[in-house]
Amino acid sequence: MSTPGLSYVPNNPQSPWQMYLQQVDRVAPHLGHLQRWVETLKRCKRVLAVDIPINKDDGTVAHFEGFRAQHNLSRGPGKGGVRFHPDVTIDEVMALSAWMTVKNAALNLPYGGAKGGVRVDPKALTRGELERLTRRYTSEIGLIIGPDKDIPAPDVNTNDQIMAWMMDTYSMNVGATATGVVTGKPIALGGSLGRREATGRGVYIAARETARAMGFDISGARVVVQGFGNVRGIAAKLFRAAGAVVVGLQDANGSVVNEAGIDVDAALDYVALGGKLTEFKGATQITEGEFWAIKSDIFVPAALENQLTEARAKTISTRLVVEGANGPTTPAADDILHDRNIIVVPDVIANAGGVTVSYFEWVQDFSSFFWTEAEINDRLERIMVEALKAVVAASEKHKVSLRTAAFIIACTRVLAARELRGLYP
Ligand code: GLU
Repeated sequence: MSTPGLSYVPNNPQSPWQMYLQQVDRVAPHLGHLQRWVETLKRCKRVLAVDIPINKDDGTVAHFEGFRAQHNLSRGPGKGGVRFHPDVTIDEVMALSAWMTVKNAALNLPYGGAKGGVRVDPKALTRGELERLTRRYTSEIGLIIGPDKDIPAPDVNTNDQIMAWMMDTYSMNVGATATGVVTGKPIALGGSLGRREATGRGVYIAARETARAMGFDISGARVVVQGFGNVRGIAAKLFRAAGAVVVGLQDANGSVVNEAGIDVDAALDYVALGGKLTEFKGATQITEGEFWAIKSDIFVPAALENQLTEARAKTISTRLVVEGANGPTTPAADDILHDRNIIVVPDVIANAGGVTVSYFEWVQDFSSFFWTEAEINDRLERIMVEALKAVVAASEKHKVSLRTAAFIIACTRVLAARELRGLYP
């Protein structure tokens, strides 16, 4: 296997970067004269790896590994979240940064793509240790982030408190309060109304619009949601509020089913109070295999990468997959779903609600003028609906999947900017 470098080509089939490279190969034939620039997409512009030493509460010193990858900055500053997870690798962060390039361009947000991560299990740290880890990581990547350079945000296992620590650390280092250096902050620190709910809301809008285009209504649709974070909870609640029947849920603890519909609000309250999803009275515990076979109209993978594998794609019983997570479906699984006429709304559109409201937050911070929640949700709705329409139209025009269509729109924008800017020197 080649060692990770900027033009890294892994041969591990589980590699997210390998998945992304295959997705680029699928879009290349549709790029016309811009194909000349396609290699730009196959490497990151810049990847920073940092050592993060922290003082532990027990008096020892622990070291963690952190990364920030900037995949492409042709259309604007880098933008993308930071995840804290024991499985973070440079390969994964590179892929996630590239998917941010595609996502930001597909939504026409004025950003390039970036992503960060720290290889750590945050649940094993005390609050003080987590704060010191966050601050040291921010200080180490401070060389390349900034309100007009690269703007981090929450991702898996990071939240508004972590963004507040990142904002404070960066501000202390530059000697001025810089609210625009991160998004997903608490409202009291220049955060935006609606940001916390935005990714889940976007997933719901993507599902509702695509279901309508396929000829079925969200009301009465059977929905299964996989995931353990913020996205799953908000999306599941919005599905239920729209009259959909949430029949299956899964989190890190296990899977549950209720053919008559799960009271999602009650289930999430139960988990929020420390209960286990599998012990929630309003549903029955099932195995992993049974979970992936639940009969549904809409399936939302909102956990991590590599969930919808080839084997699961053969047995999954649904009409529409809406990717709440980044990279949940492997390219081989994509082909099987396509052959089985199961539509997939790709991550780069389906979960773009989060970064869209991050963009609103950044704009509000720059102008120090804040919008109402209704204004934010209206603008989010408009941007998501328009982006989806364009992707559906491109998929019909080029006779390709929604994923390749989203890549055609996005990569054309990125490479057109690359060409117009030209190479320096
Ligand atoms: N982490 C989120 C994503 O994957 C949001 C990124 C952001 O708001 O910058 O899209």
